Amino acid sequence: MTKSISIFGATGSVGLSTLDLVRQHPDQYNIIALTANGNASKLAALAKEFSAEIAVVAEHSAYDELKQELAGTSIEAASGAEALVAAAALGADWTMAAIVGCAGLPPTLEALRCGKTVALANKEALVSAGGLMITEAQKSGATLLPVDSEHNAIFQALQGGRIDQVRKITLTASGGPFRTWTREQMASVTPEQAVAHPNWDMGAKISVDSATMMNKGLELIEAHHLFAVGLENIEILVHPQSVIHSMVEYHDRSTLAQLGSPDMRIPIASALAWPERMMTNCAPLDLAEIGRLDFERPDEDRFPATKIARAAITAGGAKPAMLNAANEVAVAAFLNRAVQFLDITEIVTRLLDSYSPPEPSALADIFAIDKETRVRTEQLVEEFKV
Ligand code: NAD
Ligand code: MG
Repeated sequence: MTKSISIFGATGSVGLSTLDLVRQHPDQYNIIALTANGNASKLAALAKEFSAEIAVVAEHSAYDELKQELAGTSIEAASGAEALVAAAALGADWTMAAIVGCAGLPPTLEALRCGKTVALANKEALVSAGGLMITEAQKSGATLLPVDSEHNAIFQALQGGRIDQVRKITLTASGGPFRTWTREQMASVTPEQAVAHPNWDMGAKISVDSATMMNKGLELIEAHHLFAVGLENIEILVHPQSVIHSMVEYHDRSTLAQLGSPDMRIPIASALAWPERMMTNCAPLDLAEIGRLDFERPDEDRFPATKIARAAITAGGAKPAMLNAANEVAVAAFLNRAVQFLDITEIVTRLLDSYSPPEPSALADIFAIDKETRVRTEQLVEEFKV
């Protein structure tokens, strides 16, 4: 039986890894929609290769090129935020949410509202609007499959027991490229150094988040929404080799972990084939070759991001959406060389302390908070400009 699938953020790191798995099993998957931000030629090439039904670019300015590239095919071209949401409601059985940032929230929420199976990589959507997304999924009966390697590991480890039997969840963290660096050393790192992750090959934004450890902060909030164990029962453990992707400890003190080579195609394959298992050509795990696995407690003095994220989700209300938006703006400013590496968490902290909007109760409130936070963070970026 073929599975109809759509991939939001098809031209990115997670999107391409998903398509690579489809390429290995072409007769098992039928592609409905593929989307990108503005790279029309790359999107068109993928849409043609996989005979998609529709290709959508978020940026209207990329529409003409997309239309031209798809001329003579039966693939529909579309553009804009509304077209993205409409594509999420088409007849896919399985939807990959792999847009980076809060921009992925509307189509992801739409896929959930339609009661679909959603493979979620787009953690920023869940950080900003976790409560809303989980409620929508429960209302429609949608299935949310975590793709983030840690959450996918927890999801797999939870097959060994019930959530009410869990004592503790341990999110592992590589520690990023600056794990052993002092604050003084980190003060002058370049975007090139920050995106060069020791274990994972990922998009620029999440690579910077891994370097600041904000990625683990966002993942803490992600885990809080996905797994009902209480924030105090989720801990972070630095594990530089990224082989154990996370662990679940049950009341009887049995700990179940999921292990694998640091290759995103492995958790994506688990979500793509779910509830089955698929063959992949990913590298097998060779523990004798790796030799040893190391563990450290996180150092929140050098990497305050996890502390900031824990405080934001504990405070609740508008704070997680503010945290996410401020971080997106600060990371973009760092990548554009407007601010320094250590300014990222400093700017996020300043923003979180600077104002307190009322608790969001609907999607429109989240967007309003997101928008205002972006404007305010841009102003802070001006103050920090190098
Ligand atoms: P990426 O930058 O490589 O790709 C992002 C994709 O989103 C691209 O297709 C891009 O065209 C699209 N996009 C960007 N901005 C957009 C916008 N405003 N509107 C619509 N589309 C837009 O990112 P990635 O590394 O693939 O990460 C995607 C998501 O998956 C992120 O939320 C990230 O945190 C999460 N994730 C990634 C990895 C990884 O290994 N790359 C691992 C775990 C989780
Ligand atoms: Mg992760």
